[in-house]
Amino acid sequence: MRQWSTLHPKFSFLPQEVKFAISSSPQDRAAVQVHDIGLVLKHDASGTAGFEVIVGGGQGRTPMIGKTIRGFLPKKDLLSYAEAILRIYNRFGRRDNKYKARIKILVHELDSDALTDAVEREWYDIRDGALRLPATDIARIGDYFAAPAFEAFEGDEPLLAELRAKDRAFDLWAQRNVVPRRSPGYAIVNISLKPIGGVPGDATTAQMDSVADIAEQFEFGDIRVSHTQNLVLPHIRHADLYEIWGLLADAELATGNIGLVTDIIACPVLDFCSLANARSIPISQRISERFATLERQHDIGELAVNISGCINAFGHHHVGHIGILSVDRKGEEYCQITLGGNPESDTSIGKFVGPAFWSADIVNAVETVADTYLNERHSGERLIETYNRLSKASFKEALYGTA
Ligand code: SF4
Repeated sequence: MRQWSTLHPKFSFLPQEVKFAISSSPQDRAAVQVHDIGLVLKHDASGTAGFEVIVGGGQGRTPMIGKTIRGFLPKKDLLSYAEAILRIYNRFGRRDNKYKARIKILVHELDSDALTDAVEREWYDIRDGALRLPATDIARIGDYFAAPAFEAFEGDEPLLAELRAKDRAFDLWAQRNVVPRRSPGYAIVNISLKPIGGVPGDATTAQMDSVADIAEQFEFGDIRVSHTQNLVLPHIRHADLYEIWGLLADAELATGNIGLVTDIIACPVLDFCSLANARSIPISQRISERFATLERQHDIGELAVNISGCINAFGHHHVGHIGILSVDRKGEEYCQITLGGNPESDTSIGKFVGPAFWSADIVNAVETVADTYLNERHSGERLIETYNRLSKASFKEALYGTA
């Protein structure tokens, strides 16, 4: 995709930017439905791998969930189909208004059936041309991403269970930050860059060196960055988890809060960005401090708090379970709350619940939402599920005293 799209002469003057997101898991970790073009790796009935193609998602001032325009696209057709989408966007996308120049507006104005027809017709003419990917090319690119040389294990889960039973702090960290890997005996370690009261996504050079050392010593030198502003070590042996947890703790990187209320996504706003209305980093720090106790965070469970400093929404507030948008009112910092956003495969855009809160009151408001959930939840229900069951009225009443 990069080789095809970089400096593509036909697309030098597209109406606006185009963002691709690609996910290979049913548990979407790339927010594919809120990108211009989302690709989800799937298998068809015969077991052949290909892509579901989703078009027209986005956040910013007009948040929209993308529409599936093709349920299954064979791998060999990926570039020609993407080219067909961009040709249609190039031809019909609006250039008269920069706020309406994105693919999502084209999908909205044309409607997704008409867009699908236009793309399919365009694709029909080019699908068997130079962009059809030969199996040799797919294999050549695939070689760059070959699986590392895993050791064979006879299932060492009992060892991990024993370590977790012995050490409560390790167990709490492992509950949130370690997920199974499909290779037996290996796990994926998420390194939280959200210490209590810290700046979301920040790491010092010393911490980066520590992570690099761990990646070199214990795995295959592979470190990923997640869109939730954390780091990922994708191939860690179960047998090494306890030692790695200790090394991460030495580097102050062993916060066990992945997916919890303190794992906040926040854009950098006023510190770095001239478009910001207000500061989101101090807000995220205050929320983090209010919910500092790990037991309390675990009790609340999965809760995505996403904060953006302006309507451009780089903090993905539209898809936070609790979204916070900083706004400036005559020099005062206020925060608008949305509830019910969801970045996962059943993506939803959060809804505004009422008037903006003064910035000093926003932590109380977040706590009110969490307390309302704790009071109302059914057994095993996550906050987003309680919200969807009750709709926003109960939460609005708790926040504003009126539904
Ligand atoms: S969302 Fe707005 S304030 Fe935040 S980084 Fe983007 S442009 Fe800047």
